[in-house]
Amino acid sequence: MNQIPVKNVTPDPKQGKGESFDLYAKREHIYVKFYKGLFKNFRVISGFMMLAMFFGFSWLQWDGRQAVLFDLPNRQFHVFGLTFWPQDFMLLSWLLIILAFTLFFVTVFAGRLWCGYACPQFVWTWFFLWAERVTEGDRNQRMKLDKAAWSKDKILRKSAKHALWLIIGAASAIAFVGYFSPIRELIPNIMILNLGPWESWWLAFFTVGTYGAAGWLREQVCIYMCPYARFQSVMFDQDTLIISYDEARGESRGKRKKNADYKAEGLGDCIDCGNCVHVCPVGIDIRDGLQYECVACGACVDACDDIMDRMGYERGLVRYTTEHQLDGNTTHILRPRLIGYFVCLVAMFIAFAYTLYSRIPLEVDIIRDRGKLFVETPNGLIENVYTLKLANKEQVDHQYTISVKGLDGLKLIGDSIVTVKSGELLDHPVRLHIDPRYISKPNYDISFQVQATDDESIIIDEESRFIGPAPRR
Ligand code: SF4
Ligand code: SF4
Repeated sequence: MNQIPVKNVTPDPKQGKGESFDLYAKREHIYVKFYKGLFKNFRVISGFMMLAMFFGFSWLQWDGRQAVLFDLPNRQFHVFGLTFWPQDFMLLSWLLIILAFTLFFVTVFAGRLWCGYACPQFVWTWFFLWAERVTEGDRNQRMKLDKAAWSKDKILRKSAKHALWLIIGAASAIAFVGYFSPIRELIPNIMILNLGPWESWWLAFFTVGTYGAAGWLREQVCIYMCPYARFQSVMFDQDTLIISYDEARGESRGKRKKNADYKAEGLGDCIDCGNCVHVCPVGIDIRDGLQYECVACGACVDACDDIMDRMGYERGLVRYTTEHQLDGNTTHILRPRLIGYFVCLVAMFIAFAYTLYSRIPLEVDIIRDRGKLFVETPNGLIENVYTLKLANKEQVDHQYTISVKGLDGLKLIGDSIVTVKSGELLDHPVRLHIDPRYISKPNYDISFQVQATDDESIIIDEESRFIGPAPRR
């Protein structure tokens, strides 16, 4: 399958032409212009949803506790009604693999939709760009302000921008740390400056990290730090949805009067206004072709459509399309690679859902007393000692009955009914006694059965060994 070429070019706003990409080139500050349009509306909606989920989920309650809480000290992760323990990390690995495949599938089908509409780096970058516009004005005003000498107005505007960035950074840090330290306790503790060392460290780290990544680094994170930008070209093919400039229609580009017969002058539909470059958050010129810096946000599509409307030209000079469509061929939506990803994804999702559904919210570990193989009691019985480690992974307390099987005559001494609180890991010692008449070999495979008294489906059989003396001949 052919992959489409993704260029490495840096912007040259004066000429709109690309040139060789220098990894160590000095960064040109990008002044992003405000714009309106259909894809911006999609981006705003998806951005709001991401922000609402990020800031809101930590406030939700489920069964009287925070619905999403990663309780590291107790090594329990609560996600709505489910509690995951370190033993469940296999499920997390599967979840990450499913998410990676989903990303591959979406990328083969629709390019970098994730980057343009949902990636936290870009959602926060747009949020910070909004704060910049509120405090310093739109593109031209910001450029003018940066060139101007320091004045009271400039100091005020710059201070307001950085204060707003820091407030957003701090709010994001509080929301993030609130997933690890209950947020309803964290906020009052911040108010009275009663924070532990790790909470203080992570709050400071994420405040500065968000301020730096979304305020200063912005597109640099995507270009230099994100691996996804590097390998996306491997996943693109000629039927992948991309944002592209229609060169055949747009060239030769050039200025003209609104109602001029520009075709007679040998001009195409591009009026060379530079709007598509000015709105681009990564500062590239889409007219140079598909470039790996492009995060597919659709800003240039909206900007160009607006210009086309004003000029009375047909929309879509810059548009979502495919390489095949641009070449006048048919786009194939169903293709082997896409179908392959889809089938893998569905199979993994079904397996994951089944594992999650059939997961028993109880963990039983049996530890035999290794100090003595067995003990002979004063009344002549053989005794083995065990510690049952019972972890109740549900968000309600449970009472369990303990029984043992695998060897006739074996008696369980100690409490056979035990209560384990929600999220508790209980060490429960038990002893097993047997009359030596029942023993004909030195050791037996036995199993402990632990079952919840209020839910028959919560049942686990855990294997162990019973050791006795070698039979006398
Ligand atoms: S080229 Fe267009 S779609 Fe790509 S990042 Fe720039 S504005 Fe967004
Ligand atoms: S916005 Fe459209 S018309 Fe203006 S320079 Fe870009 S492609 Fe050409």
